Amino acid sequence: MKPIYVTRSSLPPMDEYVDEIKEIWETHWLTNMGSKHEEFRGLLSEYLDNKNIELFTNGHMALELTIQAHNFPKGAEVITTPFTFASTTHAIVRNGLKPVFCDIKSDDYTIDENCLENLITKKTCAIIPVHVYGNVCNIEAIDEIAKKHNLVVIYDAAHTFGETYKGKSLALYGDAVCYSFHATKVFNSIEGGATCYKDEEIGRRLYDLKNFGIHGPYEVSAVGANAKMNEFCAAMGICNLRHIDEEIEKRKKIHTLYIKELDGIKGVILNSVQKYVKSNYAYFPIVVNEKEAGVSRDDIYDSLVAIGVFPRKYFYPLTSDFSCYKEENDSSLTPIAKYISESILTLPMYADLDDSVVKIICDTIRNCMK
Ligand SMILES: *Cc1c(COP(=O)(O)O)cnc(C)c1O
Repeated sequence: MKPIYVTRSSLPPMDEYVDEIKEIWETHWLTNMGSKHEEFRGLLSEYLDNKNIELFTNGHMALELTIQAHNFPKGAEVITTPFTFASTTHAIVRNGLKPVFCDIKSDDYTIDENCLENLITKKTCAIIPVHVYGNVCNIEAIDEIAKKHNLVVIYDAAHTFGETYKGKSLALYGDAVCYSFHATKVFNSIEGGATCYKDEEIGRRLYDLKNFGIHGPYEVSAVGANAKMNEFCAAMGICNLRHIDEEIEKRKKIHTLYIKELDGIKGVILNSVQKYVKSNYAYFPIVVNEKEAGVSRDDIYDSLVAIGVFPRKYFYPLTSDFSCYKEENDSSLTPIAKYISESILTLPMYADLDDSVVKIICDTIRNCMK
């Protein structure tokens, strides 16, 4: 068996991409909001059902600049989750803000809305929750708390492309919603990202911020970055968007097969699709309860690696335990996040994963228990 990695990037048929980029050789327009960029933006806006959208070079810059666009006072506090990719925490800290880590829930791994209010201080300016693995946060409760305390809510929605909640696009909830189109995500533009926003003034700032803060030929009004999506990435996004529904349908089949094969194994907790959510089946995490299973997450990881399957210990360690954050944070204050990060394993999940490989993975896990 060839090595099986946790994900495999989706590509459109090559001819389709070649057709899409031909025009670039006619115009010689490679970047700086060209026609592919504008076309992709329009298509995404339609797909995500939000007319307010700005594209970026990647999901991280979408997040970092979206935070910057809000002009929070330096040193202000942002309540967020430690159970995420490094990017979420980095985006806060690189803006000169202080992350305050809130614990997560043990069933869907999203921020625990019941712990939020205790962490709010006079310095709190925003909440940045993550719809982790495509699991949707408790949007209503977070919205209510944010309104009561006058806080901005920016969702890291890197895992939720194409998802809806109560029939409405997830891009419509919160003050801003940041997506990643990285090669490893459900939907990719090679590298890429986008922010959907509510307030049009934020949109105007984002447009400037991704282009050095340039506001006019002789006017630079903000300390911006270079985070513009180029034409080749936009062209890839246009092609992949044509196939996204079929992609998600294939992932759904794999998800269903995993559930069927792994259901009922003692100590292995599966992540089921939430009520009211149309899922994109981005990841397939399992939580291994070592006491019940008789084996640890790391034992299962080692058995899979031994047969050439490479799952990931996502998200381990917590971002608050990274060496760059450890000194200022205490991860024992978020015990559930700590436990989940030490017990979770994300199994291979991508559209073209073979049923036979899924069965081998599940047999290997089952055999570990003996
Ligand atoms: C991938 C990811 C990002 C960053 O996106 P890039 O496009 O890789 O910059 C941010 N947050 C989360 C939760 C992610 O998974």
